[in-house]
Amino acid sequence: MDLGLAGKTALVSAASRGLGRACALSLAREGVDVTIVARRPGPLEETAGDIRAETGVRVTAVAADITDAEGRAKALAACPEPDILVTNTGGPPHVSDFRRLGRDDWIALFDAYLVAPISLIQATVDGMIERRFGRIVNITSIVVKMPGGSLELSAGPRAGFTGFVAGLARQVVRHNVTINNLLPGSLDTDRVRENMEVRARQAGCTIDEMYTRRAAEAPAGRIADPQEFGDTCAFLSGVQAGYITGQNLLLDGGRFPGTF
Ligand code: NAP
Repeated sequence: MDLGLAGKTALVSAASRGLGRACALSLAREGVDVTIVARRPGPLEETAGDIRAETGVRVTAVAADITDAEGRAKALAACPEPDILVTNTGGPPHVSDFRRLGRDDWIALFDAYLVAPISLIQATVDGMIERRFGRIVNITSIVVKMPGGSLELSAGPRAGFTGFVAGLARQVVRHNVTINNLLPGSLDTDRVRENMEVRARQAGCTIDEMYTRRAAEAPAGRIADPQEFGDTCAFLSGVQAGYITGQNLLLDGGRFPGTF
């Protein structure tokens, strides 16, 4: 299927590796010029080079922290009027006991999972409305729907963000601007590998054993390739997806046990 995206522009935050990278690559494969953001310039430039070499699109790399206002200003200066916005942030810290978190820690979590994506949407949605095309895809998490270990730290701010998106998505869709959230379950990224190492140490087992256990948590019986996630993001960004909005789409191999 031709997604009709050739020549469009996308801003993808937190995209030097993992799910953000996969979204940027899938969009680039559709002919979208992408601006990718991450903090460390080395891996970011490497990813930009890889995407450029494979797809031939224009790739702009912005080394910035998307959780602070200055970093977002830098990203938006490089890509002020994206047709597609993919909001993403690194995962929450591994904290085994929430009692150890102080006010500043909670503010940092809200900055990362609520303020940052809302600020990016604020800065870009009106341009999308004027141009009568816009696709906003937010990477959130299965924890929005289902409890799950230490990663629950992000559940509160992400749930608040999800509530905000539910309202805004209905306001802007008449202008052909859609907003949807993608909820990853277990995708094989560096972050998940690092998480697996911590959990293996805590459980006193090998990383391979932890992988097997994690894979078995989903009826699919496997941990998914991040590119499956990236391709879903590209589909939701496509011209055909203009009637899909305000949705929370799980990519979890059936792990969430509910009917809806
Ligand atoms: P990852 O492999 O650790 O990749 C994170 C990417 O974000 C890197 O490129 C990192 O580069 C960048 N980044 C981190 N903090 C940033 C910041 N403040 N500003 C700009 N860029 C930043 O993580 P992932 O597995 O792709 O996860 C992405 C998101 O999905 C996270 O929020 C995670 O909690 C959520 N999630 C993932 C899974 C999964 O299965 N993978 C499951 C549930 C939820 P730098 O470090 O250089 O900045």
